[in-house]
Amino acid sequence: MATKPQPGTVWFVGAGPGDPDLITVKGRKLLEQAGAVLFAGSLVDQAATLYAPAGCEIRDSKDMTLEEMTDWLIAAANRHETVIRLQTGDPGLYGALIEMTRPLTAAGIAWAVVPGVSSAMASMAAAGETLTLPEVTQTVILTRVAGRTPMPPGEELEALAAHKTTLCVYLSITLLHKVQEALLAAGWDEDAPILVVQKASWPGEEKIVRGTIKDIKRKCQDEKIASQAMIVASPTLGAADWPDLIRSKLYDPTFGHRFRKASPQENAA
Ligand code: SAH
Repeated sequence: MATKPQPGTVWFVGAGPGDPDLITVKGRKLLEQAGAVLFAGSLVDQAATLYAPAGCEIRDSKDMTLEEMTDWLIAAANRHETVIRLQTGDPGLYGALIEMTRPLTAAGIAWAVVPGVSSAMASMAAAGETLTLPEVTQTVILTRVAGRTPMPPGEELEALAAHKTTLCVYLSITLLHKVQEALLAAGWDEDAPILVVQKASWPGEEKIVRGTIKDIKRKCQDEKIASQAMIVASPTLGAADWPDLIRSKLYDPTFGHRFRKASPQENAA
């Protein structure tokens, strides 16, 4: 193939949480015209192999160092117009995005990011749960506990949990005991509900475990869940079955907004 005078663009594409149908339309269109795809491990190979065209260079990055990956992307961009780095969920969450874009910029390669459905959203969707609920919590914290990567000061789970908001804890299923300890230390009740979802959205492989702070670890052990799982602690969990619920103002008949006038008479119904 003739060398192009202008290098191509490297697209960091969020593949979504696992179900190949959960990639964005834009991500899929880019894959369909890709000359080369570097995908992040088994979580996203399905989307790569489903949507990439015949003859596309497809490479799994699981045994590569960061330098090897950026070298591969730069070399591919010198051969192809469209090069894709396909990542799980959203590329901006625990995806080493900036570590990879800086060498590309230094090499004069254009790059751009296509967001993806993150596994926190997919996990809550799988369980039929909501991340926010009026007057219960209006805030979501996406975090992890310290493993080999330390947490910056002030971001220890105990400190974040003190807000009593929805907490989506990534990369921490093998450290579930630390999550339990942090929540209890922050004053959560040991009977507070916890949700663990493994392989959210994966057709036929998704596992949903509901428990309490006290028993979630045992339940996960019983289900042999030790990887690829999201932990969610939230005062919203189980709301579908609560006897009383404060309604969202957005859909309240007495609450007018830009697109709909308030209609107080409906409220009497
Ligand atoms: N960028 C990804 C996160 C990568 S870090 C995103 O936005 O989702 C990897 C962690 O994400 C895993 O340890 C797990 O906590 C979570 N994860 C990724 N895919 C998942 C899935 N399908 N179901 C549940 N958790 C998942």
